[in-house]
Amino acid sequence: MPARKTPAAAEETAEQTLEVQEEKKRRRTAKKSAEVGAETAPKVPTRKRSPAKKQAAAAPVEPVVSSELPAPASPELPQPRRSVAFIGSECYPFVKTGGLADVMYALPRALAKLNCDVKVLLPRYRCIAQPWQEKMIYRGSFMMDLCADGRAFYVGIMEYVWDGVVYDFIDNEDFFSYGQPYTNLVDDIPRFCYFGKAALAALNYMDWIPDVIHCHDWQAALVPVYLRTLFAATPLSNAKTVLTIHNLRFQGIYNIPTIQYWTNLPDYVFNKDALTQNWVDANMLKGGLTYCDRITTVSGTYAGEIQTPFFGEELDAHLRYHAGKLRGIVNGIDPQLWNSRTDKFLRAPYGTEDAAAQKQVNKLALQAQLGLEQNADKMVLGLISRLTDQKGLDLVNAIVPALVDGNTQIVVLGTGEARYEDSFRSFEHAYRGTVCSYIAYDEALAHRIYAGADALLVPSLFEPCGLTQLIAMRYGTVPIVRETGGLKDTVQPFNQYANEGNGFTFDRYDAGLLLDAVNRAKTLYFTERPRWDEMVRRDMEKDVSWENSARHYRSLYLELKP
Ligand code: ADP
Repeated sequence: MPARKTPAAAEETAEQTLEVQEEKKRRRTAKKSAEVGAETAPKVPTRKRSPAKKQAAAAPVEPVVSSELPAPASPELPQPRRSVAFIGSECYPFVKTGGLADVMYALPRALAKLNCDVKVLLPRYRCIAQPWQEKMIYRGSFMMDLCADGRAFYVGIMEYVWDGVVYDFIDNEDFFSYGQPYTNLVDDIPRFCYFGKAALAALNYMDWIPDVIHCHDWQAALVPVYLRTLFAATPLSNAKTVLTIHNLRFQGIYNIPTIQYWTNLPDYVFNKDALTQNWVDANMLKGGLTYCDRITTVSGTYAGEIQTPFFGEELDAHLRYHAGKLRGIVNGIDPQLWNSRTDKFLRAPYGTEDAAAQKQVNKLALQAQLGLEQNADKMVLGLISRLTDQKGLDLVNAIVPALVDGNTQIVVLGTGEARYEDSFRSFEHAYRGTVCSYIAYDEALAHRIYAGADALLVPSLFEPCGLTQLIAMRYGTVPIVRETGGLKDTVQPFNQYANEGNGFTFDRYDAGLLLDAVNRAKTLYFTERPRWDEMVRRDMEKDVSWENSARHYRSLYLELKP
């Protein structure tokens, strides 16, 4: 059995491996083969490390906080053009299960407006609606070696260009003909082992060598690993990589032999500083974090939180080690997509000037649609969420009976774990006409709730960024949130003395504190409506668009490729 390494010595191995890889790459005097099938790099020897570096590795690492963001480039100065390939598993409007899809839609568009060339690479799932499928144009195809036993798979490229962004869908019936879009890890691990490699191979095939490859979540996390190993001899290896963590809970963990088989990655990446976790498993996200040039996550607070054991999902030590390349950049929302003035789903579109009156019309329409008592004087609390324990639903469940006071209605829209679906159904049954639990994924209804509700509950246990509170504010719906992750960074608590703030907040994960926050909101709503309306106006005027965040990303790209 190999001797167990100290953590510091173990951390060295990964860095050494990376250093040697970098050196090997430099030595390969631009042997620019545009071949698609990449070769396995041989195992490399390790080098001794200088004492100075040892000291650095042993030094305690402070969590990175939002203040360490790169200064966004000035909008006035002309900026060099950058080409960026986005690789991820979902993108609105083609396929969406959560916030990742919104980001994959809005950020490339915002970057395109900031003089970036953007390509988005996605799987061509069969569940993508037919009208989109019909818009795609065949761009080429080839066979790609994938597995350890030499099994090769077809890679088709279907292209669609929309608003300055090129979408390339990776087509393969074996992997993408089922799922919505995910199924279970048994199927998802091979399909995303395939997807990461196919996306890189497609870029090589199209001879589109970006400055930066921006990967998202575990489904695309093998991309930096492939790039620095199997693709090290291709032109693509000149690209820098950014890996964004949208939610650290999901990491793509499976046994080592399976991932070895489906990736044919060299043995040395299966060490405990790269893919290997707990000695027996391979963790795709962990490998990506090791091999990428920059790690970002979707808010400054979350960037700090994930370096602690509570939020770190067993990767906190790994993230602390890589803290030097970790940044938090808060998400935004697409102002065209979420625009209460032009929203085609609303009964009464509105702006800041007529929000008070028009929101009431939307509220009455929402109550009618959902079978609630139609009364504009009731305060409507909305909740739009995946129904999982991340979202603080235990707290909501604990206080529903206390919330239903004759003046308040509750609207829940979501799908997820059976225990929450059932509990919300039972509340609807118990408080018919006052509580509506709409257990489904329904884009149109989501828009109507954002417009018709007075306040939106987001009491998450943890929340990397959260988009629902941003959308709510844009629609003049006051967020009631727990102070964690992006919720803390984007919702300024109401200060009754200074009459400032955007919403109501609470800190500890405690049902009593959530109830207290809702009661503070109710007090303002029912007793000081002019001040409530002022908060609604402040929320609607708050800049929650992508523009600012996109500038931070562009600065990061410029920093990577000066
Ligand atoms: P997460 O990515 O963790 O699910 P976010 O707050 O980042 O949470 O993003 C959620 C996105 O999904 C928002 O755009 C929200 O409106 C949408 N959404 C969540 N559940 C539903 C649902 N049941 N129906 C329609 N949209 C939903």
